[in-house]
Amino acid sequence: MAEKRDYYDVLGVSKGATDAEIKKAYRKMALKYHPDKNPDDSSAEAKFKEAAEAYEVLSNQEKRQRYDRFGHAASGPAGGGFGGGGMNMDDIFSQFGDIFGGAFGGSGGFGGGGFSGGRQRYNGGARGSNLRIRVKLTLEEIANGVEKKIKVKKYVAADGVTYKTCQTCGGAGQVAQVTNTILGQMRTASTCPSCNGTGKTIDKKPSGVSDDGLSQKEEVVSINIPAGVQDGMQLKVSGKGNAGRMGGPNGDLIVVIEELEHESLKREGNNLHYDLYISLADAVLGTSVEIPTVGAKARIKLDGGVQSGKILRLRGKGLPSIDSYGRGDILVHVNVWTPQTLNKEQKAFFEQMRENENFAPNPTKDDKSFFDKVKEMFN
Ligand SMILES: [Zn+2]
Repeated sequence: MAEKRDYYDVLGVSKGATDAEIKKAYRKMALKYHPDKNPDDSSAEAKFKEAAEAYEVLSNQEKRQRYDRFGHAASGPAGGGFGGGGMNMDDIFSQFGDIFGGAFGGSGGFGGGGFSGGRQRYNGGARGSNLRIRVKLTLEEIANGVEKKIKVKKYVAADGVTYKTCQTCGGAGQVAQVTNTILGQMRTASTCPSCNGTGKTIDKKPSGVSDDGLSQKEEVVSINIPAGVQDGMQLKVSGKGNAGRMGGPNGDLIVVIEELEHESLKREGNNLHYDLYISLADAVLGTSVEIPTVGAKARIKLDGGVQSGKILRLRGKGLPSIDSYGRGDILVHVNVWTPQTLNKEQKAFFEQMRENENFAPNPTKDDKSFFDKVKEMFN
């Protein structure tokens, strides 16, 4: 084996070169020695690989430190170190993703879906698409959590379909393609048009099954919805979406929560608001009333002389928090109902009370203003 050249010499930079200098030097070398720019020149290709290897080490802080201390010796079998001819062209091209950035972005490039991202995909089949469904829940269901059985129409692998290795790409899922880039002509890989990158094609299929080997089917999916979910929230049920093509994994089922309005409770986060209307007599004399809570009822006592606008807090009677153990409260807003029609006697009674000092408004400090109450409500 030939003596390895010093990585700094390979890139023509000093030992103290900055990351930016190293990157710049490598870019220059890569452009100069790119195999597609130097066809039939094996020394150019060797230089190209040498530069890529040097860059791989020097652009990585950890590897560079190790190299600075131990030199090429660090790449012995025990060290499992760098270089050693381990890099293939794919690895080198995947470096371009970060070094040339946008130049290769977009379709057919190395950056995005082209090279690096694709490689893991070719192990068999393409992942199925996600399915989205909306689920309507009552406040009671949200308060307690619920298991919902929902009918979904989805693509499943059709019975009786067998697959074989794609003959166009030999199962690799990609085919070589020559494209023009800023580096001149380059050999790149693109998704195989015959198998769409799955590496497989259908061998046999029963009549009526579409070319992707899938058929649509209605299935009942059971979904466990945790307590405390909110309108618009999305839950993911892994693997319950559409089947993948050519034996690929299933997509996910995305469950979008829709909250149905409650007839008397209004939700605000984990708190619930309830508008209570009491008669003038009840306000004056005091009373005990039933308040609906989610899935149950609670009784509250109102002392005589309660003011309209008072807010009572029923601690822990609200909704459970989805991500903690706490529970919200129910806030009962007291509204005193003023009678709109009175008979003769009632009218006479209130006429008499007009001048009665007990009926004259006399708010104390405890009768907080509306704004103070709102402030307190949010604490
Ligand atoms: Zn193929």
